[in-house]
Amino acid sequence: MSHFVVIGAGQAGASLVARLRKDGFEGKITLIGAEPVPPYQRPPLSKAYLLGEMEKERLFLRPETFYAEQNITLRLGARVTAIDPVGKTVSLGDEVIAYDQLALTTGSEPRRLPAAIGGDLAGVHVVRDLADIDSMAPAVTVGTRALIVGGGYIGLEAAAVCAKRGVKVTLVEMADRILQRVAAPETSTYFRALHAGHGVDIREGVGLTRLTGTEGRVTGAVLTDGSELPVDFVVVGVGIAPATALAEAAGLALENGIRTDAQGRTSDHSIWAAGDCASFPYRGSRIRLESVPNAIDQAEIVAQNMLGAGKDYVAQPWFWSDQYDVKLQIAGLNTGYDRVVTRQGEGQTVSFWYYIGDRLVAVDAMNDPRAYMVGKRLIESGKSADPAIVADPSADLKPLLKA
Ligand SMILES: Cc1cc2nc3c(=O)[nH]c(=O)nc-3n(C[C@H](O)[C@H](O)[C@H](O)COP(=O)(O)OP(=O)(O)OC[C@H]3O[C@@H](n4cnc5c(N)ncnc54)[C@H](O)[C@@H]3O)c2cc1C
Repeated sequence: MSHFVVIGAGQAGASLVARLRKDGFEGKITLIGAEPVPPYQRPPLSKAYLLGEMEKERLFLRPETFYAEQNITLRLGARVTAIDPVGKTVSLGDEVIAYDQLALTTGSEPRRLPAAIGGDLAGVHVVRDLADIDSMAPAVTVGTRALIVGGGYIGLEAAAVCAKRGVKVTLVEMADRILQRVAAPETSTYFRALHAGHGVDIREGVGLTRLTGTEGRVTGAVLTDGSELPVDFVVVGVGIAPATALAEAAGLALENGIRTDAQGRTSDHSIWAAGDCASFPYRGSRIRLESVPNAIDQAEIVAQNMLGAGKDYVAQPWFWSDQYDVKLQIAGLNTGYDRVVTRQGEGQTVSFWYYIGDRLVAVDAMNDPRAYMVGKRLIESGKSADPAIVADPSADLKPLLKA
């Protein structure tokens, strides 16, 4: 009987094994995960779950019984230590498991602060796994003082939750502006003002020099502008790196992640990759996406291709972020944009439309699901949108879809 092994029991791994069964695969499936819990959704970790408004059980993608019912062997708390692509085996320490086909859905790993600047002090947290949040949550309470390092979406979401819980929050961003890597200045300005309105002290162009501590626990921070702050805990949101160590040791080709072809196959014929760890061809170049929709869609295509479908993965990037009572929805990829058109709604409702020349490539919509939906459908169908209509808040957007 054929044996498919999947390494990484996260969003992509769970989607992949479910799809294999859905599409009629009757062989053996083993899903191996390093974390001690069944596959769960990460987005609420920095939102409703950290806020204490979501039960742990609701994080799980499926009840644990699902895997047994589907005859999927779920190995939890089990870390794969090596892959032998020639012998077609994976090792978990001394245990060796043979596979016919293998999928890597190992996700990504948060960048940490070096120990030399206090990154190893107690009270310094990254935001990746359920265990990270469970260890941070007790500190997120009225009157404590938090330093958030990094003004990307993870740092800003953590700042919003902390501020809502009555924590005194300082956020430092080394770049000139928050969200610099991922969004236009207009979006940065919007979120800077939103956070300032909730009392968050955002310092841009300022980095962390070092953390100070007493008896192994963080108590303060020295910033690059020379200022010093007392802190009770630190949240590190300085980006992630694709989890490629296993693939690299196995000799698979890497290129900003595990390199795959359009179907999700790595440089080894029997090994596939999907989710945060995989880089794949996209519109003449190569990208790697860090999002739930990508993890699900790509994993499902890989599952089909492991069964011989021969389908290309055509990514339709979208993403979201929740901060306070603002829902940001992003459609498309803004890489290379040369112009941003603003569509101002009432109050906190606004959307920013990114163009390359006349071509619409992305939309950031705040509390404006209609702008998001229209933008997403236009981008997916390769259509653009007349900037004059977009910029006119009284103009209906829907006719753009028929143009
Ligand atoms: C706090 C937070 C908030 C987010 N918010 C959003 C959001 O709002 N919208 C959105 O679209 N995306 C969001 N994301 C991103 C999204 O969660 C990820 O893109 C998605 O989880 C990627 O799925 P994945 O399966 O590739 O990786 P993961 O879900 O990270 O799963 C990978 C799993 O592989 C395991 N693993 C790695 N190596 C091994 C090994 N050697 N042996 C066994 N197991 C191994 C890891 O322990 C992990 O459990 C957020 C992420 C975080 C952390």
